Amino acid sequence: MSLPYTLLIDPLAADDATSATAGTFREIDASAPALRVGELSTQRGDGIFETIAVVDGHVQESEPHLARLVRSAEICDLPVPNLRQWRAAIAFAREQVPVEGELAMKLVLSRGVEHGPAPTAWLSVNAASDSTDARTKGIRVVTLDRGYDHGVAERAPWLLLGAKTLSYAVNMAALREAHRRGADDTIFVTSDGYVMEGPTSSVIARIDGVFVTPKPSGSILAGTTQASLFEHIREHDFPVAERDITVEELRRADAVWLVSSVRLAAPVVELDGAPLALDAEANAAFTRYLQSPRD
Ligand code: PLP
Repeated sequence: MSLPYTLLIDPLAADDATSATAGTFREIDASAPALRVGELSTQRGDGIFETIAVVDGHVQESEPHLARLVRSAEICDLPVPNLRQWRAAIAFAREQVPVEGELAMKLVLSRGVEHGPAPTAWLSVNAASDSTDARTKGIRVVTLDRGYDHGVAERAPWLLLGAKTLSYAVNMAALREAHRRGADDTIFVTSDGYVMEGPTSSVIARIDGVFVTPKPSGSILAGTTQASLFEHIREHDFPVAERDITVEELRRADAVWLVSSVRLAAPVVELDGAPLALDAEANAAFTRYLQSPRD
């Protein structure tokens, strides 16, 4: 079996408890054409996705990812995913892919072909890019203005900022801008000076001994890795808080990480050109935990 491994899925209605899920998805050749020209995911980025890590054969935290897929569908007025079907597809794919190493499993649900009638869905598994350097040596980050102030989600919910939509052109443009500025990644900040998230990650900072992350406000994606890591940190009796964080506070943090499902925890060693400390002990503990089998 070669990667990417891909299943094309015939989405069942969310409340379809009767149909057997077998036969509602099928393996396809990832190098052969599979989508129609009228597909709205490619024409408009009109769809949602999840990326889940598979570590040594274990699909990490599939339920929080599925819960977020449902939330994204609701925000985007997409048909709510049938979780029984997605669980079956995930389990089926897991059996087909290598049981060693780190992989990325992507779930995609699009609005489908223009003028309907049905949504399109697929699942693909690929090798994860090597994140060893980012995890151990750290990353240089610049802050970039997201162009919205920090009350934007309540005022303009149609921006879909809290959903994991396929429209990542802005996120990728921000990454290119970070590279142009000599950095590896970026942290988006609001126009009124609050920390948001990375283009593909959540922000965790340790400020005055407390692990903090921006409050999930609907203007950023609620990160599964951040939530999992906070639970782990709490279990080890360290204080955590979800709250508004100003850029000034971030600059004086003891340590900062960008966290996400596949790259895991990447310590920030430089912020807008100023060095930041890398807490090697906490960093190694984060990677150890995030690489352990998690449900
Ligand atoms: N924020 C954005 C915009 C993202 O794209 C991602 C992941 O890709 C995250 C946060 C982190 O989410 P997770 O930890 O669930 O991967």
